[in-house]
Amino acid sequence: MTSKQRKISETIREHKQNGSQKMETLEVKPQHPRTLVWRNIILYILMHIGAFYGLQRIITLNTNWKTILWCYLMIVVGLQGITSGVHRLWTHKSYKAKLPLRILLCIFNTIALQLPIYTWVKDHRAHHKYSDTDADPHNSKRGVFYSHVGWLFVEQTKDCIEKTAAIDMSDIHEDGVVLLYVICTIIGFYLPACVPYYFWGEDFWRSFYVVSMLRYALTTHITFLVNSLAHKYGSRPYDGNIPPTDNLTITMLTGGEGWHNYHHTFPWDYKAGELGKYSTNWSTGFIDFMAKIGWAYDLKTVSMEMINKRCNRTGDGSRKFDGDQEKEVNNKEETLLWGWGDKDMTEEELKLVEIHHKLNEKVI
Ligand SMILES: [Zn+2]
Ligand SMILES: [Zn+2]
Repeated sequence: MTSKQRKISETIREHKQNGSQKMETLEVKPQHPRTLVWRNIILYILMHIGAFYGLQRIITLNTNWKTILWCYLMIVVGLQGITSGVHRLWTHKSYKAKLPLRILLCIFNTIALQLPIYTWVKDHRAHHKYSDTDADPHNSKRGVFYSHVGWLFVEQTKDCIEKTAAIDMSDIHEDGVVLLYVICTIIGFYLPACVPYYFWGEDFWRSFYVVSMLRYALTTHITFLVNSLAHKYGSRPYDGNIPPTDNLTITMLTGGEGWHNYHHTFPWDYKAGELGKYSTNWSTGFIDFMAKIGWAYDLKTVSMEMINKRCNRTGDGSRKFDGDQEKEVNNKEETLLWGWGDKDMTEEELKLVEIHHKLNEKVI
């Protein structure tokens, strides 16, 4: 028995002895593992030192403008590997991609250098299926820091390990392209730093700190904002009973991933948002372009009928919905899904889905 548990039982005994009624309200908070993952802590400290040095090189005007532009371009490409690749394609199966696009997205993904595709998909499916519980790898109920990055610094809960292991990953096992990630990792991280050195004579180490380290830190924090702030600040037009929110700022930063209340409500929509305007959702623009040239197909999206029904049933009332009916008052929690292919999808969801660019349609 730990000292904390001993203290609690002593308190209970004390209350019993005193005949106090307060015992009924005594709550025992869930115990979370505090074992630190030192490998990740050290890597993140080194990453931030390197990123800070890269930032300082830019602020002190010691970096060629072409290197800064190249760094920005690599952030955009890396984010695309995350949003259109490991997120909307591999995790949520919201569209299908032919081999050349899967290879391209895998290479883009190595430039972002987050977790290997297999692990990323498994964790993210668990995040959707068991959202904001102890089985969610970055449970937002444990605080903003924990859901942003802290979850990488401590061991996962027993509940999370067991439920994540049970997630269906059969489709990922069958896709050999995800193995390319391991081979390309070093290339994706270091090669972009070589470009300024070879093509416009930038100092190699300066290029490394700006294009590899600073870029890596920025890409990581931008994507992590979706797990932290987009589970706390914003509106809940589609489901007011879940923490994820719609947040325009995060949408702009991530290229379309901040419509997070919508995304958790309909995780199998390739647009990851209702509106999908290219100005705020350029990941949708990328997938649409790939569909036009025939590399992406079976793009799933939600019909307006289903959106209206869902807003009426579970929304917080911040989005107007069609129809004259009164807004339903519903506090019932809906079944959570990880994406297209989740065995818990309802008949209605399967019936009302819209699928664009089917494989047998003519493409240009
Ligand atoms: Zn997702
Ligand atoms: Zn989320």
